[in-house]
Parts: sequence; structure tokens; C-alpha cells
Amino acid sequence: YQTDFEERFNIPHITDVFPDAEAIRSTFCLKMRSPTADFSGGYPSDEEWHGYINNKDRVLLKVINYSSPTSAGAVCIDPDCTWIEQWVHRAGPREKIYFRPEKVKAAIVTCGGLCPGLNDVIRHIVITLEIYGVKNVVGIPFGYRGFSDKNLAEIPLSRKVVQNIHLSGGSLLGVSRGGPTVSEIVDSIEERGINMFFVLGGNGTHAGANAIHNECRKRKMKVAVVGVPKTIDNDILHMDKTFGFDTAVEEAQRAINSAYIEAHSAYHGIGVVKLMGRSSGFIAMQASLASGQVDICLIPEVPFNLHGPHGVLKHLKYLIETKGSAVICVAEGAGQSFLENTNAKDASGNKVLGDIGVHIQQETKKYFKEIGISADVKYIDPTYMIRAVRANASDGILCTVLGQNAVHGAFAGHSGITVGIINTHYAYLPIPEVIAYAKSVDPNSRMWHRCLTSTGQPDFI
Ligand code: ATP
Ligand code: MG
Repeated sequence: YQTDFEERFNIPHITDVFPDAEAIRSTFCLKMRSPTADFSGGYPSDEEWHGYINNKDRVLLKVINYSSPTSAGAVCIDPDCTWIEQWVHRAGPREKIYFRPEKVKAAIVTCGGLCPGLNDVIRHIVITLEIYGVKNVVGIPFGYRGFSDKNLAEIPLSRKVVQNIHLSGGSLLGVSRGGPTVSEIVDSIEERGINMFFVLGGNGTHAGANAIHNECRKRKMKVAVVGVPKTIDNDILHMDKTFGFDTAVEEAQRAINSAYIEAHSAYHGIGVVKLMGRSSGFIAMQASLASGQVDICLIPEVPFNLHGPHGVLKHLKYLIETKGSAVICVAEGAGQSFLENTNAKDASGNKVLGDIGVHIQQETKKYFKEIGISADVKYIDPTYMIRAVRANASDGILCTVLGQNAVHGAFAGHSGITVGIINTHYAYLPIPEVIAYAKSVDPNSRMWHRCLTSTGQPDFI
């Protein structure tokens, strides 16, 4: 089982396809990070040559010792095993690189929805590429679409262009959903002579990146495809957190505070805040925990009833009678079974969700009217305000390290990989392992129970 794990988490390398691929000594190391570094007097000695990651370095993905498979939060892969130790590849610069910097054409693309920190990652990919000595860096505009739309030209990128882009949110390159097929994208990569491809996006984008990596291998193209996971929902497997999540929680807390002030200042005020989280309630849970002003937190992972003796509305009545006001924080993917299923899909094939916030607002108004109690219900949807802000300090640092490590991974000759923070260390993982399914809040976890303790809400079933 342990061997199987090692195989699964082995990261693809150029030498898998090109056994004779040439490796040269890296020009990047802690002592050579400046373009003005002068080595006319010879390179530093091996003793001085610090800062490289050994290919055998590993990061501990998971170590759990649990007494029973029902222990809170225990994820049991092998039901007979009570001790799991799993190691993955450590990210960072390698001494041997498989691309000559002067022959690199690197491209960056951002796909899916906006997320705080996109510009920070773009910026650090460009800066790090330049330090390796790469002169040819371009941005593909508006996601994968930029590969097929003849009206969209490549955006030349350099340190000068990206210097200040992290000061605002959004993506310098633009984003989109849908677009050309994998084979069309690879045709275009071939045509443009791109041999390093950095892909910033969520699960859909990564599925695309992995398919592009496989197609490049099939065609015997020497291209490094490296992903940086972008999901504001924090729903990527194995990673401590993804960039933008921390910022989103902080912004969400502001929205919750506004809802609280509105509710608290009104006679029988009820504030409803809808937050992001299509299938995972991490933002709603963390923002509720952080704010301390939420009475009811509803997430997709935990079923609930609105009506009936144990429903949300009954508890709202109790809150109004005892506290005089209440705040509900609901994740967008929660309670979808109450809403009409339109079967609508977006350009990428994702299901279009119904608006649970509006539904709760309407049902709450109806309920209080029926029972003859006045209630002032206000609904806040801060989604687009949250997505568009610039990254906070913690995400800014995360983006910096992810961007740098993406470049190190590509130069090291890896492809079909993605980079993330795992147990506080940075690691490379094969793409299929992080998109196998979406990470979600475990209703039996300590964290969800802490959230319930903080809100004081009962089970709504
Ligand atoms: P977000 O978290 O914002 O939803 P995402 O990366 O999941 O990010 P999507 O719109 O689902 O966003 O997908 C982004 C891009 O990836 C789109 O251009 C889409 O066509 C492409 N894509 C999605 N799924 C696949 C897949 N299975 N194979 C190839 N390409 C895909
Ligand atoms: Mg997605």
C-alpha cells in the first residue's frame, strides 16, 4: 500500500519520455539570484553552493495515528491501517535543469473565475523566469480561449510589465471559461514554440492542464506543463490552503459584520450572507468562526431543513424572541435540493446553481408573516466584491512562493505537476491526485464542531 502511494505521488519528468534529455547546471541558486551577480572569478564552491533541493527530499503529506476509523477527522485510506505515513516531493530549485534558459519560451494563462492573488502568482513566475535568464515570456489572454481566438494577441511579459500588478486584484491576463479543445490548444502551443506552460486555475483548468501534458507527451513535445491551483473555496485535495482563501475569509468577515450591524440595528432584524463554496463550505465555516457574529452557518456538506420543528426557521424564531436579531451565513452550494433544478451549465460545463440566499430570504419573510411576527430580513451577496480584492499579506507570501516554485519545477524537468503548501512545506504533486475529487468540510471534524459551538446552532434535521 505504501509502495502504491509512492507510485501515485511520483511526479512525471521529462526523462520519462526523453531518457537522453540533456541536463545542465542551474544558473539559479541563492548566491546567483541577481542578474548582476559576477562569476568571472569562478562559481562558488560546492560547500558555498547552498539552496538547492535534492530530488530525494520529501514532505510529509499525512501522518495519522488513530485508534479507530471513526476517530473525528480521521481519513482512513486503508481500513486495516492505524498508522499512515506518506511522503511527497519537496518543491524548490534543483541543481540540474533540463531547459537552456535562452531557448525557453514560457507562457502563462489564468482560467476560471477570479481569485485574490492571481496577479501575485503571475508576477513571481515572470520575475523568477527572468532570474533564470529567460527572455521570452508571454501571457495568453482570457484563459484557454486565448489559444484559439485570432483577435487575442499574446501579451509580452517582463519584470517591468508585472512590477506593480499585485497592487490590484483580478488578473492582468484576463480569465474565461470554455474555449478550444485540448488538441487545438496543443496545436497552438506547438505553433507558438512554447516549451514552458504555467496554468493558473481550479479543478477544471487543472484537468485541462493534465490533458495538455498528456497530449504533449503523446506528440513527443518537450514541454513542461505546471499548474498553480487557484480555488477561492479551498477545495483542492491535500493542500493546507490555496491562495486567495485567506483573503476571501477576511473579506467575508466584513460582509458578515455589515449584516450583523444591519440586523442588530433593526427591530427583529435578520441578516443573510451568501458566501462562495459550490461544494465545500470552508469559506462559510472559517468566516463564521472568525467573525463570531453568525448564529446559523449552512454549508453544502451538512444537510438541513428550513421548515418543520427542527428547521432553520423555527430556530430563527427562537433567536428573534431571545436575542432580537440573527445572522445567517450560507455557502452558495448549500440547500440546492430546495431550489428548482434548471440543468443549466456554464461554458465550462459546470452546473449553474440556484440562489439559496434569495430563497432563504423569501422563505424567512413568508414564515414570519405567517406566524404574525414582524421581521426585517436583509440579504447580502458579497461574492464579486470578495473575488476582486487584492491578496492580503498572508496570501501575498503564499503566491510568491507558489509562483517561484512553479518555475523551479518546470526547469527541473517536471511536467503534469502542480504546486502547493502541504503541512507547512511546499511540494509538487501529480495533477490527477489533486483533482480526483473536491476537498470538503468533514461534518465529523473538530473544526466543524468548533463552528457549531461558536454559533450555538442545533442540528436542523
Ligand atoms: P473555478 O474554480 O473558477 O471554477 P476552474 O478551473 O474549475 O476554476 P472552469 O471554468 O471549470 O474553471 O474551467 C476552466 C477551463 O478549463 C475552461 O476553459 C474549461 O474549458 C477547461 N476545462 C474544464 N474541465 C476540463 C476537462 N475535464 N478537460 C479539459 N479542459 C477542461
Ligand atoms: Mg471549477
